[in-house]
Amino acid sequence: MLANLLFPDAGLQLDSIETSEQRITATVASTQTELKCPSCNRVAQRVHGQYTRSLADLPVSGRRVHLRLRVRRFVCDNHVCERRTFTERLPDFAPKSARRTKRLANLQTEIGLALGGEAGARLVHQREIPTSPDTLLRLMRRQPAAQAATPRVLGVDGWAWRKGREYGTILVDLERQCVVDLLPDRRAETLSTWLKEHPGVEIISRDRGGAYAEGATQGAPSAIQVADRWHLLANMRETVERLLDRHHTCLPALRLPQPEAGQSEAASCSPEPETKTVSQASDAKPLLTKVEGIRLERRTRRFTRFTKVIALHQRGVSIRAISQQVGVDRRTIRRYIAADTFPEIAKRRPRPSILDPWKPYLRQRWDEGCHNGRRLWLEIKAQGYQGSRSLLSAWIANLRKTAVPSAQPTTVTGEGCCTLPAATPKAQRQLSAKQAAWLVVKQPAALTVEEQEALAKMRQANADLEQVYSLAQTFGRLVRERKYQELDRWIESAKATGIREQRSFAAGLLRDKAAVVAALSLPWSNGQVEGHIHRLKLIKRQMYGRASFDLLRRRVLDDTS
Ligand SMILES: [Zn+2]
Repeated sequence: MLANLLFPDAGLQLDSIETSEQRITATVASTQTELKCPSCNRVAQRVHGQYTRSLADLPVSGRRVHLRLRVRRFVCDNHVCERRTFTERLPDFAPKSARRTKRLANLQTEIGLALGGEAGARLVHQREIPTSPDTLLRLMRRQPAAQAATPRVLGVDGWAWRKGREYGTILVDLERQCVVDLLPDRRAETLSTWLKEHPGVEIISRDRGGAYAEGATQGAPSAIQVADRWHLLANMRETVERLLDRHHTCLPALRLPQPEAGQSEAASCSPEPETKTVSQASDAKPLLTKVEGIRLERRTRRFTRFTKVIALHQRGVSIRAISQQVGVDRRTIRRYIAADTFPEIAKRRPRPSILDPWKPYLRQRWDEGCHNGRRLWLEIKAQGYQGSRSLLSAWIANLRKTAVPSAQPTTVTGEGCCTLPAATPKAQRQLSAKQAAWLVVKQPAALTVEEQEALAKMRQANADLEQVYSLAQTFGRLVRERKYQELDRWIESAKATGIREQRSFAAGLLRDKAAVVAALSLPWSNGQVEGHIHRLKLIKRQMYGRASFDLLRRRVLDDTS
């Protein structure tokens, strides 16, 4: 009776039970009366002997359960059988050589798959089923991965498996909106092999050109390839960015939307020799905050590298040799060479804050003369602000710093025309090429008045940019409104410009034209893939550094199915 309750359908009888405060020990035995020899399949009834197996089982009433399972050894009486004896097995309850019952292993595997090794081990420990993270990982590995059906419409995209070092590929069923598989790299052969093993994919949405295009062509030659629209727009923006990198001097300054994020950073600077800058930086220190000082030093180092690269390049040294000598990667060297002037590093966008919606109001109150933190806090709280008071205090502290004209803008004069950093008013910052490129490709309605002014200045200052602006806007419209009929005309006008970045972008579109036309005429796009990559990263983070690729793949697929 009790045995049936504790071990339903396991075919076990309960011989004895001992309980202590933390632990229940149950001695059980199988109720099987006759067993078949696994070799000859003949029924054996003669017991040769018995031994005890030790197993962990599911906890009962918050106590650990330990099973002592008595197992018999039978004699095979078939004289022609090569087997003399065999042990009785309970594969559905206690698999061969297992140290835990199958139902406990299942529970641990489920927890491991849901939470990952470390968090899973913590949870099972609290639930009186202690096990190590390694055991959970081992149990998970044993679990066969769920197999998703081959999708008709497949989204392919890359994801950083170890940031900056290893990349994998995520495959998403765009119709069912689920992950179908993960591939360990981004190579064309890996994708094509997968596609050959999973015939039936009709449409493949992927990034622009490159390995995925090649893999898709090899693995599923009859599938329609769709260039992802997001990537199309991103490539256009990168084209503009490259152009702006080259014409760095015409980038305007823009008033900061959030003064607290503002650090006086340097304006553009032409590549003049500058040997004094480091000492100048330290001379200037009293006028700079600590962070500004560090930034200035870093920028000085970057600038020195930049001048070295340019000097070596002008002497005809190869990019590879420059890379070895200066210790800068080849991509950066190419960027330096293409740029007319020293390219500033792109600044991070200020992170969104829960305080953002109240900033205009706070600003207004501040300007009206209310500098009392508590009062301001009560005011916005009454308006529905749910963030912490310390967040507001930090913001106000920054406002105090920037509002008080404590120091004159730092100006350190170098030789010739070069100033490092040039004085940029505190509330203004020089746009990086990347930020400026955003202004060029964004829809005009999405720009603030200040951004519109900055954009107008840029366009006035540079004829190339003026041309690229209208091309970029037309292209954006063409992609957003899916006007594939106008693609040819657009490519022609882009090629007709004398701007090399624009021409090479147009040439790229032409090479991948079928997929680009598909992107502008079919509804499929990789939009949802981002969400899946985000979830994948979450799972990876939960698993800490212990996740091997196959394990991560298993968890992601299990999570999906
Ligand atoms: Zn036998």
